[in-house]
Amino acid sequence: MIKISKLLFAASLCCVLALTSCSDEECTQTTWYEDIDEDGLGNPDISQEACEQPIGYVSDNTDANDTGVLTVVDVDETLFLADGSSLTVTLVDCTLSDGSSAKCYEIVTKANPSDHEMGPWCPENISDGEEAGGVWLEGGEIYDVDGAFVENMATFYDDATWKMYDDNGDIFTTETFEDCQNAANPNVGAEYQNFCVECLPSYVTDISNTYLIPATPVKLDTPADFAMMGPPGMAVTGPSNRGIAFNGVVFDAPAPTDAILGAYTLAPFDDAGGHINPNAGYHYHAATGISTNIAQSDGHAGMIGYAMDGHAIYARLDTDGNEPTDLDECRGHYDDVRGYHYHVDYAGNNNFINCLGGAYAE
Ligand SMILES: [Zn+2]
Ligand SMILES: [Zn+2]
Repeated sequence: MIKISKLLFAASLCCVLALTSCSDEECTQTTWYEDIDEDGLGNPDISQEACEQPIGYVSDNTDANDTGVLTVVDVDETLFLADGSSLTVTLVDCTLSDGSSAKCYEIVTKANPSDHEMGPWCPENISDGEEAGGVWLEGGEIYDVDGAFVENMATFYDDATWKMYDDNGDIFTTETFEDCQNAANPNVGAEYQNFCVECLPSYVTDISNTYLIPATPVKLDTPADFAMMGPPGMAVTGPSNRGIAFNGVVFDAPAPTDAILGAYTLAPFDDAGGHINPNAGYHYHAATGISTNIAQSDGHAGMIGYAMDGHAIYARLDTDGNEPTDLDECRGHYDDVRGYHYHVDYAGNNNFINCLGGAYAE
């Protein structure tokens, strides 16, 4: 009789003290840390033991600043390589996509990067090495456009129509501004079939592009999609540009590689992931690590620019070569140093980020 009553007492004590898992089965208690700011990171100084995760607590204990106030980092306009002529940055009034009035940075750029060379894009002969050409993005991979790549295109795309070189191995390449205008066009004529398309910096010296980004990013609960390329007149909301590098070159929407290839043209990107369009000038389709990258003191990936919502964009990998594992659908996440920010996609994916977590300038 004594033994039985002791067991009953032990069972009821469990229910009173632990408030969880009062089944006959033993539970394994683990330590949970308070997460007031709901960033998924817990406060190492406030914890409790429990079998199941208590509301407001997480298993992580790395939040040194669990204040309930999320870190918001203003755009640092001094990071832009403004020179007063090719690139200017000015604070102006603006209206954001959530309807709020705000301050924005107006970035006026000639799309002429001051931190690296542009090109080359098309090799001249199928015997040329990789230094003579740029890169191509296909199926999530990045390929050097060297002479051998051009020579191999019929095999690579399993289509015998591809033969972008003559009997001497010389590669058919656009030679003039007119060629570039005609060939860099969705309705490219058959006369440019089997051409390597490159528009040179000397063709676009009059370009001036203006972009607005919020000076203080405003995170929204629902991310904004980017505008899609569609038929003329189709309603589009949201910007199509993803962001801007510190040199004023835009991180553009994915290159329409299917349309380019469908016309039997190849419009390579240079090693920095950019090429020139006669209307928009030089723009990026991939972050290959060549434009200005601002190192972080804590091993976090370096910063490469700002998204159109004013949240910063960082390289994909930290200094140990790891990609963050907690990125959201936009490729963003939060930490107390940088606030909400993005990590750019792998260059081979012809992509930077997937959506905007914050409000953009109308
Ligand atoms: Zn492009
Ligand atoms: Zn990060």
